[in-house]
Formats: sequence, C-alpha cells, structure tokens
Amino acid sequence: MSSTLSISPITKNFINGVLSNGQATTIDVLSPSDGKVISKVVLSSTDDLSDAVAAAHKALPGWSGMTLKERVQVFYKFRQLLERDIEELTELVHLENGKIHSEARAEVMKGIELTEFACSLPQMISDEIQEVSQGVECRTSHVPVGVVASITPFNFPAMVPLWTIPNAIALGNCMIIKPSEQTPISAMKIAELLKEAGLPDGILNVINGDKQIVEAICDHPDIEAVSFVGSTHVAKIVYQRATSNLKRCVALGGAKNHLIVLPDAHVDMTATNVAASMAGCAGQRCMAASAMVAVGQIDHIVDRICEEARNIKVGENLGTVISQAAKDRIERYITEAEEQGAKVLVDGRNVTVPGKEDGFYVGTTVIDHVRPDMKIAQEEVFGPVLSIMRTDNIDDAIKIENASNYGNASSVFTQNGSMANYVMDRVSAGMVGVNIGVPVPREPFSFGGWNESRFGVNDITGKSSISFWTKLKKRTTKWNPEDRTNWMS
Ligand code: NAD
Repeated sequence: MSSTLSISPITKNFINGVLSNGQATTIDVLSPSDGKVISKVVLSSTDDLSDAVAAAHKALPGWSGMTLKERVQVFYKFRQLLERDIEELTELVHLENGKIHSEARAEVMKGIELTEFACSLPQMISDEIQEVSQGVECRTSHVPVGVVASITPFNFPAMVPLWTIPNAIALGNCMIIKPSEQTPISAMKIAELLKEAGLPDGILNVINGDKQIVEAICDHPDIEAVSFVGSTHVAKIVYQRATSNLKRCVALGGAKNHLIVLPDAHVDMTATNVAASMAGCAGQRCMAASAMVAVGQIDHIVDRICEEARNIKVGENLGTVISQAAKDRIERYITEAEEQGAKVLVDGRNVTVPGKEDGFYVGTTVIDHVRPDMKIAQEEVFGPVLSIMRTDNIDDAIKIENASNYGNASSVFTQNGSMANYVMDRVSAGMVGVNIGVPVPREPFSFGGWNESRFGVNDITGKSSISFWTKLKKRTTKWNPEDRTNWMS
C-alpha cells in the first residue's frame, strides 16, 4: 500500500453528504496484489437505501430547478480536483482492483474525459422550437428523470462510476450509486471530491452492499431509472426486475470479443494490439480480446503474438485478477481446453510473484486450436487468456463471431480496406474496429454493445446517454388572440 494513502478501516455509506454506518454488517475488502484486508465495507439494509433515496428526493427540486449551465459548474471544479488528486485515485484503484499503476492512471484519465463531456452538455443540448402554425409554437426541452441509480462492477472502480455520475447529475437528476462490494473505495473518493467541488448534499449518495441492495434498488418505488454495468447473468436479472417495476433501465453485461486476423495483417501492429488487448487490466475488461479467429495461414503472426504475450510479466506489466476464485476459474478454463485437445502455447497457470505469493496473479496465456464448441470459446473467461480458433475463410470467421450470445466489441486486422468493411458490416457487435485491439469509442461517441452485452435501448455514455437521463417535455403555446384556429391548433 502506498504510504500516502489513508484508507478508512470501514468503507461506509455516503448519504446526504455525510458518512454513515447505517444498520449494516460488513465484509472484507481485499487487495488482490497480496490478499490482505484493506478495509471493510458495509452491506447496507433496505432502510439505509430508503434514507439515501429520501435524501435524493429532498435535494431534487433545488437541483433540477437550476439551469444546465449552472449545474455543470460543479463539474468544471470536479475536473480540477480529479487532476489534483490523480495520483491518490490511481493508487486507490490499483490497491483495490490490482491493475498496474499505468492502467489505473489511464482509468482516472478517462474519468476526466467523461467529466469534460458533462461540462460540454450545455453546448450540445438546446431546446428545439418551431412555429408550427401561425402564432403557435412547439418547443421540446430535456427535463431530468428524477432520482436515478447506478450499479457498478469491480473492474473499473473509478471509470464506470464516472460513466454515469457526471452526465446523470449534470442533467439534473439525483443519484444513488452502488459500487461493487469488491472495490468500493474509489467511488467514495469520487463522492468526497464532488462534495468539495460544491455539489450540494443529497444529490449523490453512495450506498454500499451486495445483491440484496441491488434488488432493493430495482424495487424502490421512488427510483425512476436504473443503470447497471456487470455480468450478463446479473444484467438480465436487473433489467427484468427494474423494468417489471416500470423503471427505465439500461443494463450492460459481459462480453466475448472476437478479433478476426486476415493473412495480410501487418504483423507487428497486429501482434502488439492483440496481446495488449487480451492482457490489459489482466483481461478484466469488457472490451478485452478473448477470442481470435485466425483466417488462413498466419502462423507467423501467431508466433509474434506469443512473443508479445511472453513479454508481459506478472507483477511488472501485468496486474492481478480480482480474487482467488477468479484465478481458480480462469485456470480451470485453460486446463479444460487443454484436456479437450487445444494447444497451450503460452501458459500463465500457477505463476507467483516473489514477495507477493498470496496475490491473485494469472500470467498471459495463448491457446491455439480452440474449437468453437468448447466452453472457453463461448463463455466470458475474464482473464489474460487468448483463445485462437482457425478457419480457412472470412465468412466462417464471421459465422464464429455471429454465433456468440454477446456483442460488445469486434475488430478485424487487415491492410485491405474493403475486407475491413466487409467484416465490420457483418459482425454482430456494437463497437467494431480495424487494426485496433480495444475499439472503445471516445467521448462524445457513446459506449454500448449489442445482444447480451447490453439490455435496453441507450448506450451508457456520450450523446446516446442524454435521452436515458432525461425525458422530453413538449410545450405548445399560442399568445395572440387574433391568430386563427385551424385543424391543427
Ligand atoms: P457482477 O455482475 O458480479 O456485479 C456487478 C454488480 O452487481 C455489483 O455491484 C454486484 O454487487 C451486483 N451483483 C452481483 N451479483 C448480483 C445478483 N445476483 N443480483 C443482484 N446484484 C448482483 O459483475 P462483476 O464481476 O463486478 O464485473 C465483471 C463483469 O462486468 C464482467 O462480466 C464484465 O464483462 C462486465 N462489465 C461489462 C461492461 C460493459 O460495458 N458491457 C463494463 C465493465 C464490466
């Protein structure tokens, strides 16, 4: 742990601007780098949630009554504070998640970009107005939805909360955020910084907990909208439960991202991008390369990918996975694939880092001759593991990608533009790329997959998120008594 960090022994709730224990019990928060307890986090009760929702409701009229230009001022200040405390936030992310320092810093940098997007909302949203018949005007305006919730996963403890907090709050909503119980500390720091930036109490409330509190969020009658990011299994539960309670919901799920590599691909560019995509954040990214479809004879590229993968070393440029359970699960996938005839070219099982023997490390792993019917080819592994499947032609490669239930990301590696377009037009994924391992759209482009990688209509960031966090009011007005009435007015 960094000597400059002071971590509270208990990660509490943050309700109405103050830290509170509530009626909660606690569980341990571990540092995945050495398995040691770094804090305990409260598991809130439904009464704690009701307190948070009541605080948000109380704050709502004042906050939603301000103009958008007034509200974003807080986020200009917040952005400065994120820059001021970037090292501390980076350390917190590293400590609770296990990713390496540069990855943790990049996550906070992305949080800054997301905040900049929220600051630019007044330049992006203008009411529309038109004289629709003589003397009669129609005007549409974006109004806040009300009290909204955001439920987040462990893998980006700062970035995913910042996918939702700045936009939802700048657009006039009050929010309850429920971070992952495995990585709750960074979200608390974000709440603290927003308070320092001048966000009035009650507008952002952090409620810690697990499954029980997520269910309570979906059921709470005074929460109007729920955003969720996590596994597909839970995304389905949350989407079904929230919408059956007549809330709007966007629920982002897991992924199985396919990279399709054609024989003309640039060898170095392909190898570095594929390896960085599968190993970055220890493969715990919903945009990580997990399956590679090798089209035709590309052994020379596979060899270079293995070389790159071997240069990514645990404890140096490769962090941990989140838990012992995750490490065991990932290693089981590898062993099972090997038993079924796949060939392990680079083996990341049973690795340790001297001095950190209790850390949850898995080394980079490349497995060749994986068959599409194997579990490792179909399920989300969420570790630094690349499964290579072989095909003779591009249409079979596209068929393999299309057979996946997921649809977050897909990339094609080629130097032929028309081939690239052919693949991009046909893969069934919301975010597609050419010669890029992690095709994440940057702001103002929005983030969101297809199929079982996202339930609901909107993307979670960027321009697409505006319609999730607002409702349209349509006003029709006539002031001049001399204006005639006609069939339209
Ligand atoms: P998870 O689904 O286990 O947990 C996400 C949230 O749901 C947490 O806050 C957790 O407390 C809560 N939760 C867990 N089980 C629950 C249950 N049975 N009922 C109700 N709530 C429950 O996900 P995770 O392990 O924290 O995160 C990793 C997953 O998130 C991966 O599948 C990854 O692909 C996905 N993810 C997706 C995206 C995306 O944009 N599509 C982004 C980041 C992560």
